[in-house]
Amino acid sequence: AQMGIAILGIYVADTAYLAERMPQVGETISGSGFSLGPGGKGSNQAVAAGRAGARVSFISKIGDDTFGKMALEIYAEAGVTPKVEVMADMPSGAAFIFVNDQTGENAIIVYPGAAGTITSADVEEHRAVIESSKVFVTQLEQPPDAALTALTLARSAGVTTVFNPAPANPFDAACYGQTDYFVPNESEAAAIVGFKIDTEEDARRAGDLFLERGVGTAIITLGAKGVYLHGPGISTRVPAMANAPVIDTAGAGDAFIGGFAAALSEGQGVEQAVRMGCATAGIAVTRRGTAPAMPARAEIDAMMGQGA
Ligand code: ATP
Repeated sequence: AQMGIAILGIYVADTAYLAERMPQVGETISGSGFSLGPGGKGSNQAVAAGRAGARVSFISKIGDDTFGKMALEIYAEAGVTPKVEVMADMPSGAAFIFVNDQTGENAIIVYPGAAGTITSADVEEHRAVIESSKVFVTQLEQPPDAALTALTLARSAGVTTVFNPAPANPFDAACYGQTDYFVPNESEAAAIVGFKIDTEEDARRAGDLFLERGVGTAIITLGAKGVYLHGPGISTRVPAMANAPVIDTAGAGDAFIGGFAAALSEGQGVEQAVRMGCATAGIAVTRRGTAPAMPARAEIDAMMGQGA
């Protein structure tokens, strides 16, 4: 029987530097803080789903280096099975994150390293993992050909597919027809449809366009406003949840996807899965960091009012 979740995506080590401004080219300035942690959308989503209690396999590539070891450590802690090729001749991905220590604004360079070399042939090598899962999830940080190959392979095996078209990079239009749940944020949705998503009516119109292009259900994340869920027989906004001060929304989208996919893998219906995604993200935004901020299942259940 099909069980658990397979996620294809990238891992990067997030290296965040705080300073009062960006240095000019040729200049060196003193910073006011630093943090290092595991990141990358696919990797964050895998950690979120693992902590939410799902059986998760993460398909990616890393280097034989310190950042790669960091990835394997968090997978071991979160119960994620790494289906990760360790490359001898490429470094693990890394992100340079400049954070303005006054305004909180950031500027980022993402270098996917080993994960940038993921091809359709790599996806084929993990065919058995994908086909034996109940849910498959991918994004657009790795090369887009690999996303289409994996979505198609998953779909033809009857695996429920979740496509998070993030960041807003171009992708093959054939992906729509291979997608059960299409999950962009507001700006990714706007980049595709060509109008801003300001109101629920905008979200509904965008959702209609995604359905016309072939997705099963569109789920547009709206930050603090929650999620717009638009599919056959349903079109509604599901509110966000947060029970503590919001201190860091980085990785909120990944937390949502991880919680949502975990619920789907348990056979929960889409509305309940969206609520679990909102609860997962609503806890993650009250903590610093991306992957390290992902909550355990007991915390998610408590947030949803079901657990202890
Ligand atoms: P990021 O790029 O920061 O990871 P995103 O832009 O992909 O996030 P958002 O739409 O901002 O995704 O947020 C995803 C989900 O996280 C929202 O649907 C909501 O459930 C939750 N969320 C985000 N911001 C907040 C907030 N301020 N309070 C409560 N929940 C939030």
